[in-house]
Amino acid sequence: MDDVAPRDRPPVVVALDGPAGSGKSSVARRVAAALGWRYVDTGASYRAMTLAVLRAGVDPADAEAVVQTAQAARVELLHDPGRPGVRLDGVDVSEAVRGADVTAAVSAVSAVPALRALLVTLQREAIGHAGAVAEGRDVATVVVPDAPVKVYLDADPAVRASRRAAEVDAGVAAPADEAGRHEAVARDLARRDALDSGRAASPLRAADDAFHLDSTALDIDEVVARVLSLVAEAGLGPR
Ligand code: C5P
Repeated sequence: MDDVAPRDRPPVVVALDGPAGSGKSSVARRVAAALGWRYVDTGASYRAMTLAVLRAGVDPADAEAVVQTAQAARVELLHDPGRPGVRLDGVDVSEAVRGADVTAAVSAVSAVPALRALLVTLQREAIGHAGAVAEGRDVATVVVPDAPVKVYLDADPAVRASRRAAEVDAGVAAPADEAGRHEAVARDLARRDALDSGRAASPLRAADDAFHLDSTALDIDEVVARVLSLVAEAGLGPR
């Protein structure tokens, strides 16, 4: 019974927000694994809803139809940091949600307030009460505003683009040559940064009390170590 909410105690959560390519996913998974906690990728829930919208032939800009599709779709986040993933209507869509079509449409779909409300409820359930590292754009500001550890992870846009370009699943329709690929990834990141930061509903922003961590000159081990030290400072530790 480790998933029952302890009364009057803050949630056992690390909230990790930041723009695409800042290293959030790798860091969040490593921290969750080190602590024996859940890993909750909130972005995967927006991607799965976007896949549902595209499969239904709905225009991502049609907010009403987007919400109707979302209400009928069943999204489940798989929170094992060693094997994270997402299901749509019972089917594992972890690979499909990384496709270029989903990446191109996800910022429009995730700007719809009623869809966000649905997904925030789902994300809170996935986080549970026994310890979780949750990553996204609004985890510290909206999903778990009372998280005891809040980190805003950022890096120079050029470094973020290089990291994303190096990933096989960048989810961007990029040319095969190295320079063209880098360009296309950089353009996609800039486009999503602008949409995610500029929207009215829960825009990407650092919580006032978040710890700002710039990973431009740090490797992943250093970032993970810093986050784990913040967890220890907050009096939290492995389960
Ligand atoms: O993290 P990832 O890049 O997979 O997120 C995909 C998209 O989902 C983001 O570009 C953003 O539009 C949306 N998102 C969001 N709020 C979150 C997480 C992701 O709006 N908490």
